[in-house]
Amino acid sequence: MKKFVQFIAGAICPKCKAGDTIAINSEDNLIYCVKCDFTEKRPEEKELSDQKEINVINLDDFKSNRDKI
Ligand SMILES: [Zn+2]
Repeated sequence: MKKFVQFIAGAICPKCKAGDTIAINSEDNLIYCVKCDFTEKRPEEKELSDQKEINVINLDDFKSNRDKI
């Protein structure tokens, strides 16, 4: 049984104000603090897929704009 947890570098807990203690549980997209009992639900997957789509469009725009200049 492995639990994949990713720490957010530089994130500060809004509850106990400790730095580098905020982690994401990738299984249920729950962010939580390892120092206190702070937890919050985050729709992380949706944000990431939206960002991917925007990046593809931006890359094409960037290339066509670059050819014009
Ligand atoms: Zn905390």
